[in-house]
Order: sequence, then C-alpha cells, then structure tokens
Amino acid sequence: MSTQSPNTSKAKVSRSPGKNRAAKSAKGNLNGAIPAELFDKKAFKETVIKHLHGSLGTDENKADNHAWFKATSAAIQELVLDRLRSTQKSHYLNDTRAVHYFSAEFLMGRLLSNNMHNFGLFEVADAALKELGVDLSDVLEEEPDMALGNGGLGRLAACFIDSLATMDYPAIGYGIHYENGLFRQEIKNGAQIERPDSWRDYGNPWEICRPESIQEVPLFGYVETKYGKNGNIQKEWHPGEIVKGVPWDIPVVGFGGSTVNVLRLWQSQSSGHFNWDVFNAGGYVDAQRENVQAETISKVLYPNDETEAGKELRLIQQYFFSACSLKDIIRRYKRAHGDNWDRFSEQVVVQLNDTHPAIAIPELMRILVDRAELDWDTAWNISKNTFAYTNHTLLPEALEKWPVRMIEKILPRHIEIIYEINHRFMQEVERKWPGNNEIKAKLSIIEEAGEKMVRMGNLSVIGSFAVNGVAEIHSKLVKENLFPEFDQLYPGKLTNVTNGVTPRRWLKACNPLLSDLISKKIGDEWPLQLDKLDDLSQYADNKTFQNQFMRVKLKNKEILAKEIKALTGIEVSTKAIFDIQIKRLHEYKRQHLNLLHIMALYRRLLENSEYDMHPRVFIFGAKAAPGYALAKTIIYAINKIADKINNDNRVNHKIKVVFLPNYRVSLAEKMIPAADVSQQISTAGKEASGTGNMKLALNGAVTIGTLDGANIEIAEEVGDDNIFIFGKTVDEVAAINAAGYNPYDYYYQNKELKALLDWLDSDYFTPGQPGALSSLKNSMLSGGDPYLVLADFDSYSESNKALDEAYKDKSRWAKMAILNTAKMGKFTSDRSINDYVDRIWKLEKCKV
Ligand SMILES: *Cc1c(COP(=O)(O)O)cnc(C)c1O
Repeated sequence: MSTQSPNTSKAKVSRSPGKNRAAKSAKGNLNGAIPAELFDKKAFKETVIKHLHGSLGTDENKADNHAWFKATSAAIQELVLDRLRSTQKSHYLNDTRAVHYFSAEFLMGRLLSNNMHNFGLFEVADAALKELGVDLSDVLEEEPDMALGNGGLGRLAACFIDSLATMDYPAIGYGIHYENGLFRQEIKNGAQIERPDSWRDYGNPWEICRPESIQEVPLFGYVETKYGKNGNIQKEWHPGEIVKGVPWDIPVVGFGGSTVNVLRLWQSQSSGHFNWDVFNAGGYVDAQRENVQAETISKVLYPNDETEAGKELRLIQQYFFSACSLKDIIRRYKRAHGDNWDRFSEQVVVQLNDTHPAIAIPELMRILVDRAELDWDTAWNISKNTFAYTNHTLLPEALEKWPVRMIEKILPRHIEIIYEINHRFMQEVERKWPGNNEIKAKLSIIEEAGEKMVRMGNLSVIGSFAVNGVAEIHSKLVKENLFPEFDQLYPGKLTNVTNGVTPRRWLKACNPLLSDLISKKIGDEWPLQLDKLDDLSQYADNKTFQNQFMRVKLKNKEILAKEIKALTGIEVSTKAIFDIQIKRLHEYKRQHLNLLHIMALYRRLLENSEYDMHPRVFIFGAKAAPGYALAKTIIYAINKIADKINNDNRVNHKIKVVFLPNYRVSLAEKMIPAADVSQQISTAGKEASGTGNMKLALNGAVTIGTLDGANIEIAEEVGDDNIFIFGKTVDEVAAINAAGYNPYDYYYQNKELKALLDWLDSDYFTPGQPGALSSLKNSMLSGGDPYLVLADFDSYSESNKALDEAYKDKSRWAKMAILNTAKMGKFTSDRSINDYVDRIWKLEKCKV
C-alpha cells in the first residue's frame, strides 16, 4: 500500500455492509458448491497474496491499488474458470439447444464487483482485503469499463447474457473484440472532446484467448460457376483476401454462481495468406498494408447511436463477426451431428440484435448451398428456422441499408444469394397481391429508387422465423407502420418482448444500502424473483419505512454529491431534488427540452426572487456521436448554462446544473441510486423502449416522462399517481405532423418560450461568442423542430410544477418512491429472457 496516494480526490464510496452476515449469505446462495479454499476470509486472503506474488511479482508492501485489483480478480477468476469448465462439460454432454446472441455491441461495464456479487463473495472479499489494509471500493475503481457498445442496445445484450446464465440457459454471446471501445469523453471549456478508450492497456484479467478456435473469413474476390456432383450448377467463391478471427472468451457468471456461460468476441488478424504476387513484384509496402488492414477490422467501435454509419469498414466488421460466429457454431454442431444438417435448427437458434448481424442470413445460405451442397429449399428452411430478429428502432436514419455495389465488391457471393432470396420472395408477394407493384417495391430487399441499396431490415424479417419489438407500443408501431404488409403475409411472426435490466447489477450491487433495507423488510429472494418487491407496497404508507427509505436515498445523495464535487468541483445540496437525465445525447431524447425548462426556471427566478420552487439539482450524463454537430452543441449549451447558473448567487441556492463527463456503465451505477427524479422525455413514438427508465425507477426515482416506449408500461405498473406523464401521445404527434407542424406558432404565442429561444441567440451564456448557441435555437424554429420540443414545452413545464409540489410533501414523495421500487418486478431481464424462451427460443434449462 506504500505507493498509494493518500490524498486522491476520488470520493470514497463504501459498499461494505456488516461483515458478519457475509459468509452466511455466500453459503446460502451457493449450496456449498464453491471449493472450500475460497470460502472463508483467511483462504481468500491467501489466494489474493498468492497471485500478488506468483502472477504479479510484487508483494503486500509494494502493491498499489491496481496490483490489488489484478490479484483480487485473479483470485475470483480461479473460481470462474472452475465453473466455466463444469458448465461447458454439462452443455456438451447434454447436447442441448442453445441460443446464440449475435450483437455488434456488448456494454459490459466492470466485472469484478459483479462476479463477486454473483458468487456471493462480495462481503468475504471486502473483509479479507480490509485485513490486508486495502479498501475494496478503491480496488474496484481500478477496473476500466468494458465499453464495447454505445448505449441501450449494447447494455441490453449485457443484461440478457447475465439473465441467461443466472437461469441456467445454454447460451453464448457473439460479438467483436474492439481494441478501442466507445471513446472517453472529456469536457474542455464546456465542449466534448473525444479521447481513445483503451480498456486493455494494462491487460484484462477476465478474457481468455482461444487460439485453438481461430476462424478464417474470406473477403473480396470473385465467384466461379461450375457443375457439382449431380451435374447441378454450383458456385464457388474465390476470395481475394482471408482474415483470421481470434476468439477471446469473457466468462459470464450467473447469479448464484453455478452456470458460467461465455461471451465470445472476435479479434481480426492478418491470416498470413500474404499476397506474394504483390510482394515479388516489388510491392512490399502494399503487402504490408494488407496486413495492417486485416487488423483494422476490430480496431474501433463505431460511435453512432441510432444512426447508420454506412461505411465499408462497418460492413466488413458485421460480416467478420457474423461469419466467425457461424463457423464456430457449425464446428460445434458437427462435433455432435457430423454432416447431417437435419437437426441444425433444432439445436441452434441465432438471435440478431438489430440488423447489424443480418448478413449472417446469406452467409448461412452460402454455407448450406455452396459448401454442404443442399438444395435451395432445404437450405432456406434450415436458415429461416434458425434466425430470429429484434428490431430496436423506427428512426429512418437508423434503418440499415448497404449499397448493392459495396456488397458486390466485398461479398460477391452474398449479393447473388440476396438477389435469389429476393427473387423467390417477390414470387410470394405476387401470389398474395397479384400485380401490385407498389407493394413489391416496398417489400423488396432491394431498394431501386436512386442508387440500389440492400435493406437489411427487410432481409431480416424475410429470413427469420420471429421478429420482435422491445416494448408494447414499439412492437405495435413495428406492426402497423414499419412492416404492416409483412404482418399480413406472415401472421404471428411479429411479436413483442419488453426489455428488462438485471436487478443484480442495477440494484443489488450498485445500491447496497437500499438492497439491505429491502432484504431486511421482505427477505432476500428478490434478486431472482423481482416480483417479490411488490411486498414493499404494504409499507408505502408506513411512516417508519418511509423514513428508512428516504434516509437511504439521502445517504446515496451524499455519496453522489461527493463524487460530483470530486469530478467537477461543483457543490450541491443534498436537500435539493436530484433530477437526473442520463442517456446518449440525441435530439429525439430531448435533453434540450430539459435545458429549456431549466432556463425557464432561471428566468422566473430572475424576474421574481420569491418564485416558489423546491431547490433542484439537474444532473446530466451523455455522450454525443463525434460527427453529430447539434448533439455536441447541446452538450456545450448545458455546460455553458450550468456555468452561468451555478455562479449566479441570485439563483444558485435554488438551481444547480451538473454535467458529469464520460457517462458509462460504472458512472450510471453511482448516479442511479441517488436519483429522486428520472427524466424520460423522448418525443412519443421515438424511443423504442428505454432501459435507463427501468434502472432509475427500480432505485426509487420518480419518472417524469412521455407516453413512449416502456414508460407506458412503467406507468401501468406504478399507477398514474406515482409518475408524472406529460406531452403529446403517439397519435397526437402523428396528427400534428399530418396537419403540418409549425413551431413558429408556439414561438409567437408563448412569450416565455420566445424569450428563452432568443436568449440562446445572445451571448449571455457564451460571453464574447454571440451565436455560439444559435444553431440550437434554429433547430427548433427554421429547422422545423422535428422532435416537437416547442409543442410539448408547456405540458412539460406544468408537469414539472406538479412534481415540485409533490416533493414538498415529504410523506407523499416517500410513498411514490417506495412504490416505484415495489412495482418494478416486470422489468427484470429475467422476465424478458423467459418471454424469449417461451415465445421464440424454446430452450430447456441445463443445470450444472
Ligand atoms: C442503461 C444504459 C443506457 C440506456 O439508457 P436509455 O435511457 O434507455 O437510453 C445507456 N448507457 C448506459 C451506460 C446505460 O447503462
């Protein structure tokens, strides 16, 4: 500990409840299955020291927090690998049907705390390290987040694999081993700066390289037509390049610790299939460049959330991980079933997390038709019964389309297969709607207007046996607006599975104070049966419990207040309402609606120092895609307006504004327990589900939100008295747009709104830089205000007043907060996974 700096500015967050409970609850979760040597404090200490000496070559006196992190992780990893082996053996022996979750993103966050909690060893480890003079919470801070995703879609994949392991389902996650995850965000003079995220700089203690399972992936080249065994026409793809896929396995520890599944991530590498012709002709430099290019494939995560990148490298990434994963699945299948494909779709289900891995559909067809030489119809039946597709968005800019020309160049055989799939599909459409060319043009995989494009959504619907949206309203809109004809053509194929979040990470581990209070009150079964939280409802009116619940909230606010001070220097009062909006920065999520309202409060206070409002701290966390200029301007505006308000002594006892930089999973885990208010204010119809809304409500935050995504289902669960709903509904939004929306009507009719927008045009918030925020104003006026910020402003403002009023009544607010936690049972990802299992995957559990 000698090298540890004593005056680190980081706020210390103690996550260590009483240690005498520890060993008992650990044993309770694990039925004595853990090797005895890791059970008690003494043995755990010895294992950590063993790794400190034997793996890290240091000792107790020299070790810094990072060394302790490595040694502690290595101690836990011993157990992880033991369980991984028993799980894999059991899956192999049982030859069970398994789900293969294909996702370009897995936003895993940190794993040490999670793995300790899931093994029931958190308290043991905490006590053991304490005796070594080490603070576990400092050690946990050493772990970089695995930020291999942008936002909700990637975090959903992480919650799903947690639930699959927890419920003993055979499952494997497949994705990309990005060298650089989502950029690290710094704020300089109010503006976002992107810095590279290098999560593996000092080695990652969890991942295991599996060189024995390397796969090769062909790219480019040309297709040869020839005759097969029976004189039939066969196609052979002669690739121009071959890339190696190196698998890295991240163990996924289920809660209770009996099943450990894997997340397998592919890293690209040059195959050594060196282009010698180029080399011999004197092009040594060019040949080297090909080497570099192969390794480029898994280098960076595209930082766009809800926007299609449309870049060649992105398509190559998608094919690269889909092809590696399919080959891996087929290798495993053949070990048990040889060349008999009859049972493939009984054993294998592939879930496509959005259209990013949709190229897997023609890839499986290629393997079945060109390599296995099955006839088309047989191959198509197998393929169609293997894939299921999850739609995550209706935003047109997010619907993936690839130029035919680009696919032709990179995947010359796949474009032929896509055309064949489409040709046969068009015949089906002709049978259903004879002579209707309009429907054909709409449903065709190929978009013919302008440059020819392949529509990955249409390919996914046609090539899957099930398609789901991610919340009731979203699935309804998928059926009625996005794919109405597909719903007629394939009745029953389009369905809903409402998203969920894992309560182990998002309540038990991140909020130990609330978790302990809940367990004391209703027992400790809730992490596996979240419906049990409803037992808290009976205490919602109980003054003693209200006080206990709000005391926990206050403690969590104190912890976050310290973190805010450490990260930004801003002092906030824990007596104020902690009002939190955390999510990617996007116009449809309307951080600028929140900001306009903050400006309104500021202005009201300037005009009337007696303006009645409870003190409120508005806290934001958000990354903007580096190429999304307006999103970056909104971040700049939040920071500039924050500067002004926080330093204005006329109002800063009533309002503070905080932007916490580098929003990510580990920061979310610190913010969510401290939230009084959860901002979920997307334009109705735009947020497919949201999952941040669930995490916050689970931790006792009250939602102010629109009738969008899963907010609707949250409102159904908690009841209208325990949520603040405002704004236009999906139908009203549609009506406004149909009638021709004119934001100037609101601008000229609402004096306050006009003053606020004009304020953005001045240099009040950006002294010496007039116009620095004008593009934000313009987006809501001449830009047409596509997300109806102005149309919803009044309703939002009124709803905020009602919220403020409710908070003044301590008992009423406590009741609302308790009921929010109590009614979140539906939103566990265990329920989502069971819905997938029942409606789509049809899996059996495989207990280890
Ligand atoms: C849950 C989560 C999200 C998704 O939040 P939404 O509010 O649903 O958009 C994004 N990023 C991180 C780090 C998360 O944990």
